[in-house]
Amino acid sequence: MTLHQNLIAGEWVGSNGVENINPSNTNEVIGLYATASADDVRTAIAAAKQAFPAWSRSGILERHAILKKTSDEIMARKEELGRLLAREEGKTLPEAIGETIRAGQIFDFFAGEALRLAGEVLPSVRPNIGVEITREAVGVVGIITPWNFPIAIPAWKIAPALCYGNTVVFKPAELVPGCAHAIVDILHRAGLPKGVLNLVMGKGSVVGQAMLDSADLAAITFTGSTGTGKRVAAASIEHNRKFQLEMGGKNPMIVLDDADLTVAVEAAANSGFFSTGQRCTASSRLIVTEGIHDKFVAALTEKLKTLVVDDALKAGTHIGPVVDERQLATDTDYIDIGKKEGAKLAFGGDTITRENPGFYLQPTLFTEATNQMRISREEIFGPVASVIRVKDYEEALAVANDTPFGLSAGIATTSLKHATHFKRNSEAGMVMVNLPTAGVDFHVPFGGRKASSFGSREQGKYAAEFFTTVKTAYTLA
Ligand code: ADP
Repeated sequence: MTLHQNLIAGEWVGSNGVENINPSNTNEVIGLYATASADDVRTAIAAAKQAFPAWSRSGILERHAILKKTSDEIMARKEELGRLLAREEGKTLPEAIGETIRAGQIFDFFAGEALRLAGEVLPSVRPNIGVEITREAVGVVGIITPWNFPIAIPAWKIAPALCYGNTVVFKPAELVPGCAHAIVDILHRAGLPKGVLNLVMGKGSVVGQAMLDSADLAAITFTGSTGTGKRVAAASIEHNRKFQLEMGGKNPMIVLDDADLTVAVEAAANSGFFSTGQRCTASSRLIVTEGIHDKFVAALTEKLKTLVVDDALKAGTHIGPVVDERQLATDTDYIDIGKKEGAKLAFGGDTITRENPGFYLQPTLFTEATNQMRISREEIFGPVASVIRVKDYEEALAVANDTPFGLSAGIATTSLKHATHFKRNSEAGMVMVNLPTAGVDFHVPFGGRKASSFGSREQGKYAAEFFTTVKTAYTLA
């Protein structure tokens, strides 16, 4: 089996590899992927530092061309890369191809942004002086990504980093080195100079930690768990570096008495259970007013019965497996916790076996949950959601905001008054009206509030805030 190596200083290196396993069929090894050592990370950071002066001054046409070429190849290979993604992460093939297309669109967007770099020219408050405000690259950027969006998250961090002239050391999650390796290979062949983009695969505790400990990373952008996010923050403050964190969510979706029942059920099923509930924007708190509660629970339960849980590559699968054994254990632990806390198991709750050995779990719905239960306060990150019954919109809004997190929030209603009020008063970074809490566009800002996020927004032109630093220059005319 070929060994997929790390890319350091423009060379593919590494001899020891770990197996990448398919969660839909644990007998299947997708490939062997090299693991970097702390020394490799230091070499990669040194290479990126050396490459920075030239890349940060490279022409915008060169950056545009490389990002565009990358987009074109991702688009042309979307079926193949989507299959790889579905095999290593477990989301269904249509979801995986959709994510791959999104990665292609992101590279295309930032190829365009490279041509739209701009600043401001203003008069000074003092006579005969001009002021120019420009954006410059930050330096070497460390990128640490999670397993749940193996191609889109690396794309939405790598593309702006390179677009604005930064050099990169990229560490993907251990469970999904395949897509990471594939996009780095595409960017490398698209013509990136040596050292501009380095790939260091391996363990968080070794590779990630060596990045946190480096004094030569000017910035780190991180998506992952709250615990690791706090480590990134602490280490970044120590090294006086810029950092950006995207962490957990416990996203609410309100369903009001006046909701269109079909819209509400479709949005809840999508938010709670598609992509196996493994999205930071997934909704696991369905906050439902009394008048529609029983009808909504009955209709959602009927919908869940129709969802097929099976191999991610099989046609007709709606929900793929959980990503690995550890995450499955977390999910089933939370299902036990929910039962012990007194929530009523309305659907699912059990692991299931399929033709091949994999980490299959039924979509699981609790009812009669309260917002104080652990299943309502802690992020589960699986296909598990709870219904919380409330009296009216005012109580629903209070419950929706009563959470340590603030990434995404949804409401199903036909009332313009309540939709408008919710958009203004939700304490989340993203608000969805009559739509799932998950599923966002690539050209607009993505991010949350409270314990979900820290730092400036990702994606769209707002990404410039993190990946550039502002310079104000004064000239006496
Ligand atoms: P999850 O529980 O979803 O896997 P993690 O926060 O553990 O979330 O993982 C997100 C990313 O952070 C992964 O790439 C992981 O390897 C990395 N990581 C884990 N531990 C550390 C650490 N101590 N320092 C830096 N990165 C880490």
